[in-house]
Amino acid sequence: MNNHVTILEIDGNALKHNLNYFKKKLNPETKILAVVKAFGYGSDGVQVAQFLQDKVDYFAVAYTHEGVALRQANVKTPILVLHPQIPNLQTVIAYRLEPNLYNFKIFNAFLKLADQIPLMNYPVHLKFNTGLNRLGFWHTDIPKIIADLKETNHIKVQSLFSHLAASEDLEEKDFTINQINNFTYIAQQFYKHLGYEPMLHILNTSGVVNFAKAQFNMVRIGIGLYGFGNDEQETAQLKNTHNLKSIISQIHIIQPGETVGYNRAFVAKRPTKSATIPIGHADGISRKLGNKKGYVIVNNKKAKIIGNVCMDMIMVDVTKIDCKEGDEVIIFNNQKMLNYIADVSETIVYETLTAISPRIKKVLK
Ligand SMILES: *Cc1c(COP(=O)(O)O)cnc(C)c1O
Repeated sequence: MNNHVTILEIDGNALKHNLNYFKKKLNPETKILAVVKAFGYGSDGVQVAQFLQDKVDYFAVAYTHEGVALRQANVKTPILVLHPQIPNLQTVIAYRLEPNLYNFKIFNAFLKLADQIPLMNYPVHLKFNTGLNRLGFWHTDIPKIIADLKETNHIKVQSLFSHLAASEDLEEKDFTINQINNFTYIAQQFYKHLGYEPMLHILNTSGVVNFAKAQFNMVRIGIGLYGFGNDEQETAQLKNTHNLKSIISQIHIIQPGETVGYNRAFVAKRPTKSATIPIGHADGISRKLGNKKGYVIVNNKKAKIIGNVCMDMIMVDVTKIDCKEGDEVIIFNNQKMLNYIADVSETIVYETLTAISPRIKKVLK
């Protein structure tokens, strides 16, 4: 039982708002796949999926065990596993997860299993590389894939998809349009020669924002669900979903010349009131936020982090704040704070969110 006082509250209404915001940008028949990988971007993939399951058409996770967790929590929605890995294929089938098959090695491994069991029309997804050069078949693989598919009824291609390399960056617009065109060509080859028409999808969140025309049959929304668009204006229309809170464990009054924390990094120049908060770099608070770079909110006022961020704690300056031990502390509760934390941590908000440790208790409200 996790009674940790540092809690990430996941805002269900915000998730719903964000989902509807993207739905309005799409044709009513376009399906929505909610990406809940990496613990729902640092929240709780299971709670988010349970909350969204009657509102979306598909879920995606990165790895097989993430999909297993959803099934064990009784999530019935189709689940695409983006990076299933060969040793897990039996588990994929046991939990009725839908694998992304992205090269002949995993395609053949899955087909062999499907023939042995045997499966009947088991839903699989084929990913094509159109420029990200991460996972995916090449268009030159198409004839062989189609020939192999024609010889089996043990698997059925549920969708063909690809992933954009720079959908958020309009300076790379030509590259993105080229990716979309390549994908369209790949889809046409399948539609012409396969005998049935799998679903098509290529857009992630910023793809929906910038290239909504390429929505095909489904879009895959991750970061947008959690409150972040491409830019400030877009993000302003979304609602923050991740609210991280804690409490003051202890308050110290220290005198000039005394220091706070490891390596004595903070040296008091005047009498200083310092508050210790139970969250540290092991919870996803970057050490770059130490030494007055980062702050938290105590009783509606900013309290800067003083000294170095410890593994399990931070100390903040509350000299000018009326507060006591046990008072609530907001680590972040809006996108502006999260963007600031990401900037100071020299990263992007994707990393700031997914860095939130599984040790922190998560509650969807
Ligand atoms: C993570 C991921 C997404 C979601 O991307 P966002 O930018 O968070 O919307 C979509 N598709 C694939 C293949 C991914 O790996």
